[in-house]
Amino acid sequence: MHHCLIFSISSDNVIRGFGSYKIAHHLRKNNWDAEVIDYTTSWELEELKELVRSRVNSNTKFIGFGQLFTCWTITLEVFTKWLKEIYPTLYLLAGMQGFPTYNANYIDYYIIGHAEKALLSLLSQLFSNGESIELHKFEWSNKKVILANSIISPYHAGFMTDLEVQYQDRDFIRDGEWLTMEFSRGCKFKCAFCDFPYLKAKGNYISSKDSFVTQMRENYDRFGVKNYIVADSTFNETTEKIKTYADGVQELNFDPFFSGFLRADLIISRPQDKEHLLNMGFLAHAYGIETLNYKSGKAIGKGMHPDKIKQGFFEIYNYFKTHDRKLFAATLSFIVGLPYETKQTIVSTTEWIDSLPPEVYISIHPLIINKHDYGNASEFSLNWEKYGYSDRNVTDSKSYKDAIQRDSSRDAINWQNEHMTMDEALEIADSVNGSRGSLMKDVWMLASNAMHGMDIEERIITSQSYYDGATGKDRTEKFVKKYIQNKLNCN
Ligand code: SF4
Repeated sequence: MHHCLIFSISSDNVIRGFGSYKIAHHLRKNNWDAEVIDYTTSWELEELKELVRSRVNSNTKFIGFGQLFTCWTITLEVFTKWLKEIYPTLYLLAGMQGFPTYNANYIDYYIIGHAEKALLSLLSQLFSNGESIELHKFEWSNKKVILANSIISPYHAGFMTDLEVQYQDRDFIRDGEWLTMEFSRGCKFKCAFCDFPYLKAKGNYISSKDSFVTQMRENYDRFGVKNYIVADSTFNETTEKIKTYADGVQELNFDPFFSGFLRADLIISRPQDKEHLLNMGFLAHAYGIETLNYKSGKAIGKGMHPDKIKQGFFEIYNYFKTHDRKLFAATLSFIVGLPYETKQTIVSTTEWIDSLPPEVYISIHPLIINKHDYGNASEFSLNWEKYGYSDRNVTDSKSYKDAIQRDSSRDAINWQNEHMTMDEALEIADSVNGSRGSLMKDVWMLASNAMHGMDIEERIITSQSYYDGATGKDRTEKFVKKYIQNKLNCN
């Protein structure tokens, strides 16, 4: 049986790298022995080498580096150089959703997008005389890149319904941890700024209730896991989808908790969905509100009147705060720089933001417009001039570089329209983000206490996090150190 190691990389080590586990599970179903090594950026170089020495054998074919957002460190560069020197026949592969914004000299292939099919095709070419894989050339890089991030790619893995991930004892998952769950890989909508690859999806492409229940039971019985981040780009596309998993939760002997992306306008227009979300335990909501300017909302495909959105949000908030577990956490995100949005309309948005309960987290970003189409370009990226944007051709401003880095966007334009520049949009975004308090209120950061076993109720009600401050840092380090010791001691 072929063997591989997959190192999961994230910059903050708050939660496990879901993509690496998903790919490892997929490889195991295809007769590979695949082991995931997590929290990689917390490992010392010598520890990484020790682990590799204890694992690599004559069946080892590649070492992978899985990332959600691109991240690379000097230690990883030295580590990959060492791998190439000591194991020259091993391939080094990297996979991620965006484009690599770092320079790594020893990676042989990069896969961009959901990698299940692309990776198997590449491995077939490398080790089974399979067909040559299509590589993509970029003008900004000579990297060997396989694009799996659009429905025009022969390697795309959109709309898959077998989305199961089975964890292993050697993953050393501990009681109280959060994991990630994917229910579907597509979106029925097409917002003009969105570059998610599988839009305007048709038909039924959700994973089965039975598979969901099986995974939930197994993760609870084996590891004590009850809390999940949901990977779906829009979980609440249809009432049927929510109800399917809410029904599944009724078959469990514990109360799970889910956190993920939902469309607020859909909950507002289908009020009965609140009850299904409640029954499911989907109690931490990340809403892409994007704008509270009516014309801007219509321009991007989110046309519900802002007054309805504002009132509807408070109704949702009050519903969850007064029903069943009385738990609710929300992150509302906005985009600065959409068509028709002016500095004045942003001011009225921030006035509404100021009226929100303090525990609601706000996340604002400048609009990102990419110059090139790699098969998944947003409507704005394809037609930015038509929407009134021009390229200032300024790429050395700090704020512009920050924005590019945050979005892993290798070739965004530094735009301006009749109302503002991208730099001004970033300034506005940063000033609002900074005024709303700790990042720990963000629903995506609820999982940060996975490492410390803080109760979810306590975490939400107090808006406190062990991850904050010195105590949190200390607990995080202890958690990761224990994981590293477990990995080094097992083989
Ligand atoms: S922004 Fe969300 S709802 Fe809109 S198209 Fe993208 S994934 Fe779908």
